[in-house]
Formats: sequence, structure tokens, C-alpha cells
Amino acid sequence: MAADLEAEVQAIDKSLLECSAEEIAVKWLQTNDLQKEVYQHLAYYVPKIYCRGPNPAPQREDMLAQHVLLGPMEWYLCGEDPAFGFPKLEQANKPSHLCGRVFKVGEPTYSCRDCAVDPTCVLCMECFLGSIHKEHRYRMTTSGGGGFCDCGDTEAWKEGPYCKKHEINISETAEEEDPLVHLSEDMVARAYNIFAITFKYAVDILTWEKENELPGLEIIEKSDTYYCMLFNDEVHTYEQVIYTLQKAVNCTQKEAIGFATTVDRDGRRSVRYGDFQYCDQAKSVIVRNTSRQTKPLKVQVMHSSIVAHQSFGLKLLTWLSSIIGYSDGLRRILCQVGLQEGPDGENSSLVDKLMLCDSKLWKGARNVYHQLFMSSLLMDLKYKKLFAIRFARNYRQLQRDYMEDDHERAVSVAALSVQLFTVPTLARMLITEENLMTTIIKTFMDHLRHRDIQGRFQFERYTALQAFKFRRVQSLILDLKYVLISKPTEWSDDLRHKFLEGFGAFLELLKCMQGMDPITRQVGQHIEMEPEWEAAFTLQMKLTLVISMMQDWCALDEKVLIEAYKKCLTVLMQCHSGFTDGEQPIVLSMCGHSVETIRYCVSQEKVSIHLPVSRLLAGLHVLLSKTEVAYKFPELLPLSELSPPMLIEHPLRCLVLCAQVHAGMWRRNGFSLVNQIYYYHNVKCRREMFDKDIVMLQTGVSMMDPNHFLMIMLSRFELYQIFSTPDYGKRFSTENTNKDIVQQNNTLIEEMLYLIIMIVGERFSPGIGQVNATDEIKREIIHQLSIRPMAHSELVKALPEDENRETGMESVIEEVACFKKPGLTGRGLYELKPECAKNFNLYFYHFSRAEQSKAEEAQRKLKKQNREDTALPPPALPPFCPLFASLVNILQSDVMLCIMGTILQWAVEHNGYAWSESMLQRVLHLLGMALQEEKQHLENLSEENVVTFTFTQKISRPGEAPNNSPSILAMLETLQKAPHLEVHKDMIRWILKTFNAIKKLRESSSTSPVAETEGNIIEESSRDKDKAERKRKAEIARLRREKIMAQMSEMQRHFINENKELFQQTLEELDTSASGVHDNSPVVSDAKLTALGPQQTRVAEHRQVVMCILCQEEQEVKADSRAMVLAAFIQRSTVLSKNRNKIIPDPEKYDPLFMHPDLSCGTHTGSCGHIMHAHCWQRYFDAVQAKEQRRQQRLRVHTSYDVENGEFLCPLCECLSNTVIPLLPPPRVLFNRLDFSGQPNLAHWIRTVCQQIKALYLLRDEDCASKSKELNPYSESIKEMLTTFGTATYKVGLKVHPNEEDPRVPIMCWGSCAYTIQTIERILADEDKPLFGHLPCRQDDCLTSLTRFAAAHWTVSSLSAVQGHFCTLLASLVPNEKNGNLPCILDIDMFHLLVNLVLSYPAIHCQDFSGVSLGTGDLHLFHLVTMAHIIQILFTSSTEENGMDQENTSSEEEVAVLTLYKFLCQCTGSALKEISSGWHLWKNLKAGIMPFLRCSALFFHYLNGVPAPSEVEGTFEHLCSYLSLPNNLTCLFQENSEIMNTLIESWCSNNEVKRYLEGKRHAISYARESNKLIDLPGDYSCLINQASNFSCPKSGGDKSRAPTLCLVCGTMLCSQSYCCQTELEGEDVGACTAHTYTCGSGVGIFLRVRECQVLFLAGKTKGCFYPPPYLDDYGETDQGLRRGNPLHLCKERFKKIQKLWQQHSITEEIGHAQEANQTLVGIDWQHL
Ligand SMILES: [Zn+2]
Ligand SMILES: [Zn+2]
Ligand SMILES: [Zn+2]
Ligand SMILES: [Zn+2]
Ligand SMILES: [Zn+2]
Ligand SMILES: [Zn+2]
Ligand SMILES: [Zn+2]
Repeated sequence: MAADLEAEVQAIDKSLLECSAEEIAVKWLQTNDLQKEVYQHLAYYVPKIYCRGPNPAPQREDMLAQHVLLGPMEWYLCGEDPAFGFPKLEQANKPSHLCGRVFKVGEPTYSCRDCAVDPTCVLCMECFLGSIHKEHRYRMTTSGGGGFCDCGDTEAWKEGPYCKKHEINISETAEEEDPLVHLSEDMVARAYNIFAITFKYAVDILTWEKENELPGLEIIEKSDTYYCMLFNDEVHTYEQVIYTLQKAVNCTQKEAIGFATTVDRDGRRSVRYGDFQYCDQAKSVIVRNTSRQTKPLKVQVMHSSIVAHQSFGLKLLTWLSSIIGYSDGLRRILCQVGLQEGPDGENSSLVDKLMLCDSKLWKGARNVYHQLFMSSLLMDLKYKKLFAIRFARNYRQLQRDYMEDDHERAVSVAALSVQLFTVPTLARMLITEENLMTTIIKTFMDHLRHRDIQGRFQFERYTALQAFKFRRVQSLILDLKYVLISKPTEWSDDLRHKFLEGFGAFLELLKCMQGMDPITRQVGQHIEMEPEWEAAFTLQMKLTLVISMMQDWCALDEKVLIEAYKKCLTVLMQCHSGFTDGEQPIVLSMCGHSVETIRYCVSQEKVSIHLPVSRLLAGLHVLLSKTEVAYKFPELLPLSELSPPMLIEHPLRCLVLCAQVHAGMWRRNGFSLVNQIYYYHNVKCRREMFDKDIVMLQTGVSMMDPNHFLMIMLSRFELYQIFSTPDYGKRFSTENTNKDIVQQNNTLIEEMLYLIIMIVGERFSPGIGQVNATDEIKREIIHQLSIRPMAHSELVKALPEDENRETGMESVIEEVACFKKPGLTGRGLYELKPECAKNFNLYFYHFSRAEQSKAEEAQRKLKKQNREDTALPPPALPPFCPLFASLVNILQSDVMLCIMGTILQWAVEHNGYAWSESMLQRVLHLLGMALQEEKQHLENLSEENVVTFTFTQKISRPGEAPNNSPSILAMLETLQKAPHLEVHKDMIRWILKTFNAIKKLRESSSTSPVAETEGNIIEESSRDKDKAERKRKAEIARLRREKIMAQMSEMQRHFINENKELFQQTLEELDTSASGVHDNSPVVSDAKLTALGPQQTRVAEHRQVVMCILCQEEQEVKADSRAMVLAAFIQRSTVLSKNRNKIIPDPEKYDPLFMHPDLSCGTHTGSCGHIMHAHCWQRYFDAVQAKEQRRQQRLRVHTSYDVENGEFLCPLCECLSNTVIPLLPPPRVLFNRLDFSGQPNLAHWIRTVCQQIKALYLLRDEDCASKSKELNPYSESIKEMLTTFGTATYKVGLKVHPNEEDPRVPIMCWGSCAYTIQTIERILADEDKPLFGHLPCRQDDCLTSLTRFAAAHWTVSSLSAVQGHFCTLLASLVPNEKNGNLPCILDIDMFHLLVNLVLSYPAIHCQDFSGVSLGTGDLHLFHLVTMAHIIQILFTSSTEENGMDQENTSSEEEVAVLTLYKFLCQCTGSALKEISSGWHLWKNLKAGIMPFLRCSALFFHYLNGVPAPSEVEGTFEHLCSYLSLPNNLTCLFQENSEIMNTLIESWCSNNEVKRYLEGKRHAISYARESNKLIDLPGDYSCLINQASNFSCPKSGGDKSRAPTLCLVCGTMLCSQSYCCQTELEGEDVGACTAHTYTCGSGVGIFLRVRECQVLFLAGKTKGCFYPPPYLDDYGETDQGLRRGNPLHLCKERFKKIQKLWQQHSITEEIGHAQEANQTLVGIDWQHL
């Protein structure tokens, strides 16, 4: 069947290819009925090209469509061959000065914070880089797809609207020139014809709803082929769809995933092809299977012809998009065609038709036509306007459709609003001509239908579905924001009229919110169900910015402001017309004042937090003052209609509610209320809630008698009784009062005092106080930084969302704060400048309670540090604006004085618990404020003014009869001496001082001096004396301290000088391990230190005593005592790899004996250096294991370590470990029994060894039982640990099941020793550190143990196996007939070979009684391998002779190496390149062999324990001497020429070597360069751009959602996505995890580009996120790219990551992260 189909398709293709586009076009040019001709053509050919089988074949379809369908259209359009026609069009075109680039998903976009008219104005990367804005403060984000570059749009930018590229185009284009003039008349006519027909065809077919018919096209092919089409929805999950498809259409999981992915991307996909019944069957299965969920998946059976025409319809739209790119004239014609009204009148244009069908179209179709709109209508200035009108007229319908639609907003035509409404001229035009504001608000109201009886909003329970719907509705608010974003500079009467109409509609909306969600205090029982509150708050939150914007608009025009104010007042009166209804008026009186009010208790009646109308009026009222309208046109304002008690009533209730909640009176109302109160004060809402309530109180009070206000306030706080009844307070002291009630009242009094402080003190909004916007933001920042130094992002978060948060903050921050740069971790911080501390107000109204107490503590501490008194007096305040000026009188009103006096009286009497210190503190603050006020009044006194603020006089006056209470002043003086008020003394002293200062001021300004009371003077002077005395004492104490410090540091200096080395050591090795061993300083003279061989320096044996971290017992490390072990972690590593693509095919059969020089996979061992008894560790590990098993059974939670794999955490430092290394004494000492002089030379020794080997083979053939373990000097417990560690190395290194008998176990142990030394050598070399003395203790201990362990391991493994290994290893250099087929010397890592040979040699030596010492063998082996390495280097080093300066004189070394090289040339038959410069050869050789020598020095140092000479600072000569090598390395060859010539010849004759020399293969050259992480670009946006160009490698050019960069090899991956999951060891894993297995043997370091986050992965279950090495200018990272500040590479931080990698600490880092944050454990890392 498939084959048949294929053949048929090919036959059709062939006939189609014979069509001639030109001929068809000529026919079309001649016809009278073009539409009929074209339709016939399409009807015939489209089904022949598209939809020929079950799966689409896009390439073939595109090719044929271009040839048969589009080709003729292009011919027709051009009237000639389009290959000539289009370039001509392009040339004639005056290109647009608009960029209009449509963004791809994930593409970087830039916005200028200084110049963008609003944040939606963005540039593409190319335009940005060519614009002036790259030097400005900009913001970078990644596009969600859709939207286009605003370059060239003069309305989008305050400055620099064009980039360099688009600037060129403006000079030529005349204003508003008609682009059609560049086209010939014929061309215009043809374009019009063909566009009209094709556009109509596409729209008709895409919006077609019948399943069996076609619009205007007969189905010529009546075949019975159908598709079962599956559509996308946002209800069903990927998994559900995949599962259903597998069942319904019988496909594999892979196919199902493919279908699901396409459905998700394109919006639809055919899942079955065949006759109707066949498809219908699948449809019903799918529907049945998914109907159990909320709604079934959408499936449709469609005739293949319809699908074919729809496919071509889409193709046509894309084609039109590209055709109009050739010419602005064509673009205009298409716009004209699109917007032309059809025969059906209104809404019948093609554009209207598409828009109105939007929600019925599938995703793919929508995307295509949206793109066409963007590249046509939105790019043409004239038609953009016409389109905007169409859009606005259809707005209600489009929104209604959008609400019903379940697709994301980005794929809805409704989302185009941002492109239209944010253009200021369009927005203004739409407001005036289409009444857009009103339309949006009314549409919004349409969708919020739930109301209570009073007509207020009443939201249902906030379910997920509700939330979903509600989110959709909110997009309307967004549209409103767009419309209001740019404020008008000029007002026409029309605009005023329409804006006010919109404002009216908005008030109607707010009216529905005024008083919504009312609450009543719950008494007795706790509420049963938390009431719904979130929806109302969400609404408020979303509207906050709109409310602010409305006010901003009103502020711009006096007439508008007056009208808006009137409207708002009217609505407020409607809301509260009945506010006195049913309430009995009551009369309050105090201190000779009385006022009438209503009886109302917040604690008993309904109260609501939502009062947007009141708050809007408060905002407008401030504007009256700010714009001075109140003073200019008072007659136009309805000020006389204002009833201050009515204005303040509801805001006051709301504030009282907060106070009562705080006093614990509303506990039974549950969390919903607590949350509401929280948001009421929160930065997201407070601007239009809490702040405005304070303003409303200020407004009301400024128009009232302050005594009246205070009495009403006392009454609402339910405190009236307490203060109006003398001696009421005393009643509290009796035992029988309820303590809770007293406590409650105390809190309420505190809160009330706080409120008074705010009403008088909060005057930093322009219009209330005489300040500007900068003062306001400065004050906010000062108070935030008073709490503690903060990062930029923290400050941003603490500020409300408006322009201040953007550039406003930055313009003032330098004035109030200093910036401190971050170090390697942490972030940059702003610190408050000391001189700003005087502006600190402890009762700043935006402090939360916690912030307030933190700030208080911080500020007091600061004062103490500066040796000032700790009083925090109120700061001096700016004066009020005239409209609010009378507010200050609250402070000196009679009722206020009475309240303050009463509280001070309580404090003086100090009986019972009827008062609190906070209460007193607030009274003192209020007194301070009043005094500051009076002082300022006096200071700013002008001639004609009389100071009416006479607070000092009032508080000096004693109370009147009948109480005869003392004056406030007198009480303060009493309190100053009270012992129980120590903390407030400084403040009281400050008050008294200020009081006196004011008195003096008054005296100097007034002519009649007032006699000063003597008592005061005396008191004053005695206070001064007191102060002076304290100061003197403090000074003495300070001097004494300094002296002591000086003495101490002098002593320290001596000590350091005397113990210089010791001190340095302790400084460098701060992480000293528990081990007490340090064989660094034996008393041997440095010059003669030799690490190996018969000449090896003998080291005095010293006892090594260590302590177990578990039982704290000490023990000596000896071969025959109980084993001590180090916690260790073994891992596979590719850090040194030079070939990341190498995979070990079958680990069970893999032979690791020879390490390839590409070091593609090694085994690394690390340790935290903590020592335990082996048995203590065993017990600990067993316990961990048992606990884990129980825990996993019970809780099914994972831990950061995998017990089943032997992992555990070091009991001391929680470092991840998976085995232990035994501690051993130097092993060579134990076996080096004999030490003769007169040892054999190399040739002799090799002969001896070869004979021994032969003998061994013979012996082994006889009795294969491995002989003699009787020699083993180790205790049982050490032997056991040798096996344990050996097996662990084998298991991890080869990834196989543990098997202690396997002959490869010793090889893996040696390999791990060699590899670990190599990694450490590289780290030291990269950091330019000397070889010895610079390793941290833990590494030093680890290497010592590891080397000694590896040297001892042969004692627990099969002797014959080790002997066999030795024989094979040696045979690679000294060939024999037994071992054929060994790797050639080019394919052996010589250091590994050396370690293996040296460590396996004792197995031969132990059966040798010829008297050769072990040391001699070591030396010969070392020399042999060194020579082999020299040859290796000479073979492979790149020998470019040019460019280098060469010294003329040839040294001995150069001559010798040249001779050697010539010999090599001889042996290879001159296949080696001719080199004549000995200087170059010697230079290359020295450089190439250094790493090997350095590794060898480390190895023998740890093996034999010979201390390193202090000069082994890497100089070549010292290294050679330490290693017992001649300085002229080639001397080795001369000395041993007897045997070496033969060996070299045999090496050269190897086939692989020959192939290499013939250039047929590659070999590693030396020195191998260190591996680094990839280079990262300095600017993060380069990475974003790179990632946006990256598409998923598996799903055909699709953009990847989570592009992730491997920092090790630079591969970009498609992470966290179904498309790129692969199977690994039987499990589905994501692209990153799969990649770690090839690139990093299970460990990976990635950068998640969209998130700007580093990802560490280890194995399938471990992972963590790590801060990225990119910082913004404020020294902060931006994980998640939420803030969008430009990010730059921080090299130091990147180096730190690189070091973690090179040190093999990634897994450890993950372990620590997971231990610290348990949620990381739960993440499915393998899916990333
Ligand atoms: Zn651009
Ligand atoms: Zn541009
Ligand atoms: Zn700019
Ligand atoms: Zn112990
Ligand atoms: Zn540890
Ligand atoms: Zn990689
Ligand atoms: Zn993918």
C-alpha cells in the first residue's frame, strides 16, 4: 500500500512539474473572469499537491506549490519573470523607516529605561546595537513571541527613535507620501486583482465550517479520503493526549508524542487518514476517552480536499506576507484589499472576517494571519489607523470571543491591542472618535456580573476555573492601562468630554467595589469557612495602577480635574447617602468641647476594606492643592458640599479595623482577614488603599475642629470612655479587671497615637506638604536603608510600581546611599549615608511592625557606635501646603493635650498594668513633633505673622480644677528621674533641651522677656556637668582600650616574625584536617633530597598518631594495628578528557590496563580528610543504612545521598562520600628488605626481569595456585579496608557490579592514584602554584593515603594476576614474544604506565632473591618510562620552526637532542619531518615533559615520603635532581645506548607508529593543554540571541523552550522537553542528563539560558541550581531573568565555577545544596 502510494505520488509530481507558470499566467492575463480561472486552477491542483497521505510532506508540498500555484501568481503579478520582476520592485521601493521585525519566541528584546515612552516599546537586537540607547539605562527581556521591533516609530521613543540602519531611510521619504506612486498603473491593477482573489480565497477557506463542501470550488476529486483531525486545547495535559492517542489510533508512544507535540505547536494535527468510517471511529474513541474530564478533546473528521485547501490557504497568507516585503506599494494595496468592505456592509471586510473568527481558528492559522496583519496593516501608517478603528469597533465582540476561547492570550487577536493602544496618537484618536475608554470599561463590567443587593461585586469562591476566567477579564484592565499610558500634552474639548465620560464609567466600576466583601467581627465561635477575599483584592491590585493613572490625567487639565472631582464626590455621596440612617446621633464632650456624631462600633457592625471611591476622591483632593486649582478657582469647586465627618468616617473605620485586628480582637475571623490587612498595607496595594485613607483623614481633619475630630476618633477606637472620664484609668489597677481587656485597650491606645503621628507627620506627597516627587522617593529609600543595607532589587521591590521604581529611584539614590560592590558571593549593597540618619522617622508609615523594630534597633546601635545619645527624636518636617496647613493644630488641641497628659500621668503613677512603654514612647514622639513644629514656626517667622502655635506655653500650664494635675512639663521632669524608664531618658532629655531652646528663641524674638525659672537653669547646668563627666570617662576608657590593642598587636608582630613558617602554614591551611601528621620538615639538607632509587634520601621514621572523629580516641598508624580510614568519594571523571565522544562499549569486557593519552575517562578520588576507625565507620554506615531503609519505606522521600550505592555523608562535615581509604605507613619501607651496593644497570636489570618473567610463566603453568601471602605485613582489619576501597574503585570506575576477585581491581586502584595526581598537578599548574606545600591538608592527606593504598593493594589481590599485569605493562616497552598486540607507545599515557609498573613491581620483586633492591627497580622503571615519553614527545610535538628567536650558541642539550632526533629519523626510514634546530627540539621537549615530571615528583613524594626540597618550585633542574634524573635528559639514552637503540627501533617499527608518521592517523601531542570551561561572552544578550536561534534538533526547526548550554563542551541542548527525551539505562531522561553521560561521565555543568541559571547535575537523581556568573551593574544576579537589567560576565565567579569542576567538587556542591534545601531533593533532575 505504502509503495503504491509512493509510486502514485511520484507520477502526479511528474505531471505537475510539467506545468508552466508562465503559460498559466498568460492565460490569466487574457481572461475576463480572473477569479473563475484562478479558482478552477486551484480547485484542480491543490488537492493534487496537498494531503496526499497520512503524513504531511512539507518539503514536497512547498516545492510543488511554488511551481504550480504560486509561480503563476508571481508571473501574473510581475507581468514578467518574477526573478526579474521582484528585484525591480525592490529597487523602486522607498524602504520603510520602520523596522517591524516580528519577534521569535525567546529572542532578546531591549527597552530603554530613559527614552521609551512606555515599557512596551522595544527594539530588536540589531536595531538596539545600532541605536543611542545602548549607552543608556536599558532593560533586556526575552520575547514570548509575537510583537515587533518599534525602531523608527517616533511615537515610541522620547529620543533616538531610529537606529543607524533605519535612520538612512527617513531623509529620503517625504512626509506621508503615497507609496503607490512608485508602481506603474498596470502593476497596481494586477496586484489589486490577484491580492483580492487570493486573500478572499484564503479567508473563505480558513473560516469555512462545513465538512463536506467548499466555498466556490467544486470538489473535482470525489474520492472518499478523510482526516481525523485533533485540535489543541489548554485543558488536557500532554500525558492525557498521548495516552488517549495510543489507545484511539493504535500508534506507538513515540508517534503519539509526535502528534501531541504538533498539536501543541500548530493547534491541530491529523491523527488518522482513510475513509470516513475509519476516521469517525477514531474520533469517537478519542471523544469517549476524554469526556470524563471537564470537556472532551476537540476532534473533527474532515474531507481531505478541505484540509488541502486550508493548507494552501495558510501558505497563501505567508506568501502574501513575503510578497509585500518587496514594496511598500504592494503592502498598501493589500491593506486596501483587506479593509475594503464587502457586499454585506459593516464587518464584511476580509480583515473583519478573520478577526471575528479568531477564536474558531486553530493556533497555527491564527499565528499566520496575525503575522500577516503585523507585516501589513501595522506597518502602514495610514492603514494602521483604519485597522485600529476596526479593532476598536469590534472590541466588545473580540473580548467576548476571547473569554470563551481557551487558548493563551498570545495567540488571540485580542493581544494585538498592545500594538494599537500604546501608540499615543492612535489611543487619543480612539478615545475621542470611538469612545474607547468607555468601551473598555463597559466591556469589563459586562464580564463581572456577580453583584449583591446593593449592586456591589460579590465574587464566588475563587476556584481554578474562576481564577482562569478572572485572569482573562483582567486583560481588559491591561488594555485600559495601555490606553492611559501616555498622557496627553494637549486637550481638545472632545478629548475632555470623552475622557470624563470614561472617568464616569470608571467611577461606576469603583462604585461596585466600594464596600464590597464586608465583614463582621466574629465573637464566640471561630468562623467555619474562610470567606472569599482573593478575587476582590486581585481586582484592587490590578486596578491600582489604573487608578493612579486616572489621577495623573486629571492633574493635567484644570477643567478636567474640577469636573472629575465633582463627579467623584457625587458618586461618593450616592454610596453613603444613608450613612446616618437608622443610627442614633450621640453627643461627645471633652475639655469643654462637644460634637455630635453617630453611634457606630467597628467591633459590632459591618465594615469593609474596599473604599476605592473615597480614596480616589482623596487623591483628587490632593491634586486640587498640588495644581493650585483649590486656590485659583475655589468658586468652581463644591467645597461647601463637603461634610468632613462623612469623608473621614469610612477610612477611619478601616484604620480602626486594622488596630483592632492588631489588638487581637478579630482572632476568630481567621486568616482571610489577616491576609486582607496584610495586602492593605503591602507595597502592591497601599498607594491606593492605606496611603489614601491617611490622606482622607488629613483632608477631613484639615476642615474640622481638631478637638471634634479627636473625640470622634476616640469614639471609633472605642476609647472615648477611658479618656473622657477622669480617673477611669485607675480602675484598671484593681485586681478584678480582665487582663485581656486591659491589654487590648493598651494596644488600641498605642495604635491611635500612631495614627495621630501619621496624620500630622506624613506630608511627603506633593500637594499635602511642600515637597516634590524626589523628596518623596528619597524618604522611602532612606527608611528602607535604615533597616539595613539593601541590594538594588530589594529596594525596587519595596517601592510601588511606577516610574520611581525605574529611573526615579536611581536619580536620587546616589544622594542618600553609598554602593558597596559584591565579592565572589553575595550581591552589591546600598548603604545609607550617615548624614541621612537624621531624617529617620521611627514611625514612618510604610514600616511593617517587624521592619520598625529592626530599624529602631539598627539606628540605636549606630548612635551608640558614634557615641551619641540613643534618642530617636522625630525629624524636622517640611511645611504643609495651605490646604492642609491647619492639621498641625491637632498637636496643641485641648483634647490632644488631655490625652497626652493622661498617659504621662499613668506613667508617673506607674501603678498596675494600665499603660505601656510603647504608649509613652509615642506620646514622647508626639511631644517632640510638636516642639519641632513650634521651633520651625519660630525660625521661619516673618514680621507680620504671629505665631499661633504655642505648644510650649500650653504644656507648661498645670491642669485646671478640679483635678489640679501637674503640667506636662513637670511630669516629664519627674519621669526623667524615674528608675523604671531608663530607656526613654535620652528622649526625655532631648525634649527638655528642645523646650529650652524654643524658650530662648521666643525670648530673642519677642520684646518682652519671660523670666526663666531658676530651677531650669540649675537643672540644665547640672545636666551639662553630668554629661561632661560621662564624656571624660568614656574618653579615658577609649584611650586605655587603644593602648592595650597596640600592645597586643606589637606582641603579635614579634610572634609572627619568630614563627614565620608556622604562621604562614596556619594561614594557608585554614581547613586543617584532624590528622596531626606533617612530615614537611625533617632535618635533612634540601640540596640532596632524592625521591627514589638507591640514592633515595632516608627519612627518619616517625610515629603518626591520629584521632577518630567518631569515638575521639587516638591511635597510631601502624601496619599491624587496627585500621584507620579517611572518608572518600570516588567518581568517574572526564575533566582531563581530550576526546569527549569516546564511549566504553562494554564495561564488563573492558581492559583498563593501558590508559590512552586522551585521558577520556578517569577515576578520581577525593576526600574531606576526616579520619575514623574502620570499625567506628562500619558501625556508623550500618546505622545510616538501616535508618534510610526505614525512612524510605515509611516516607518515600529521597535523600541527597544514595545509601544503596554505598553513599553516606561524612559524620563531621557532611561531605558526600562513597567509601573510605585506609591510612598506611610508607609501604616501601616494609618490603625493601635488602639494600646492596653495586646494583645492576638498566640493561642488566631488564634482562634479569625478563628472565624472572619467563620463569614465572613456567612456574605458573605448573602450579597455578597463587603463592605466598604469608609475607603480608598488614593486620586483618587493614586488609579488609584495602579490599573495601579497592572494590569501590573498581565498581565506580568501571560502572560494574562489585567483584573483589576481578583481576582488574588493582588496575583501577593504580589508575585512580595516577589520575588523581594528574588532576591535582593540572590545578596547581593552572594557578601557577608551586608543586609542594600549597595543597590544602585534606588533599595532601588524601593523596598520601591514596598513593600508599595503591602501593599496598597488591598484597590483597591475586599475586599471579598482578604479576601478569606487570609483565604485560613491561612488554609494551620491552617487547617479548608472549604479549603481542599491545598498544603502541603513541597510545599509552606514560604517567599511568609508570604508576602501574612501579606499583605492580613488588609482586615480582617479592619472589626475587637476587639482591636487587626495590629502589633500583623503581629507578630503572622510571628511567625507562621517561625515555619512552621523550620519544613520544619527539614524535608528536608540533615543530614549527618559524617565528621564534633562536639563540646562536648551541648548548650541550640541544646538540644531544638533535642527535637523538636524527637517530629517530633513521629508524623511521626518514618518515619523520626534517628538523635542524636543536633549540626548538629541546624547548619542545622540556615543555612537553614538564607535566610528567611534576606528576612523577608528586607520586614518588607521596609513595616514599621524602620531603620536597623547598626549591622544587617547578624549575626543571630541581625537579630532575629530586627525581634522580640528569639535567640533560637525553643523557639517559647515551648512558643506556646498549639497550635503548634496540628498544627505539622496535617502537618505531610498530604499525600504528608508521601509520601515524604517514599521516593516516592522529595522536595526542604534548604538553596536553588543561581543559577549561567554554568561553562565555561578556554580554549576556549574546547568549540569549544564540539560544533564540537554536531550534530543537529533533522536532524539525521548532524553537526549543529551555535551551541549555553545556559549559564543558559548548553544546546547546533542548532541555526539559518531551521532544528530546532519550532512553538511558531503561529510563526516559531529558537531554541534559543524557548529555552528561557522554560529556561528563554523569556529571554536568549547564547554563539554562532563558533562566540565567547554572545547573549542576550528577547521575540521574542529583542536581542543584547555582548562581550564574553574570551580574548586573548593581552587583546582582538575575536568576529567571525577571528584572532585565543588562548582565555582564563576572570572570571571577566563572573561574570559581571552573575551579569547582576541575577539583571534582560538583557532586559535593550538589550534596551540600540538597542538604541545605530539601526541596531540591524532590526535583526530577533526570527530566531536565
Ligand atoms: Zn529592529
Ligand atoms: Zn532599526
Ligand atoms: Zn535611550
Ligand atoms: Zn573510633
Ligand atoms: Zn568530613
Ligand atoms: Zn558537554
Ligand atoms: Zn527538543
